[in-house]
Amino acid sequence: MVKCPKCGAEVEKPIKTWKLAPKGRKPVTIGLFKCPNCGAYFRKGVKE
Ligand SMILES: [Zn+2]
Repeated sequence: MVKCPKCGAEVEKPIKTWKLAPKGRKPVTIGLFKCPNCGAYFRKGVKE
């Protein structure tokens, strides 16, 4: 669960996720979340 940066509501699941793998670095998974409370979209790193 992640928190909306605008209103602080908890968002359970990302709409989508993708891998970000900069060269020479550990790949990270980024999730795109939509807050059900205020409707804001935000991205956050998620753990698999
Ligand atoms: Zn929100």
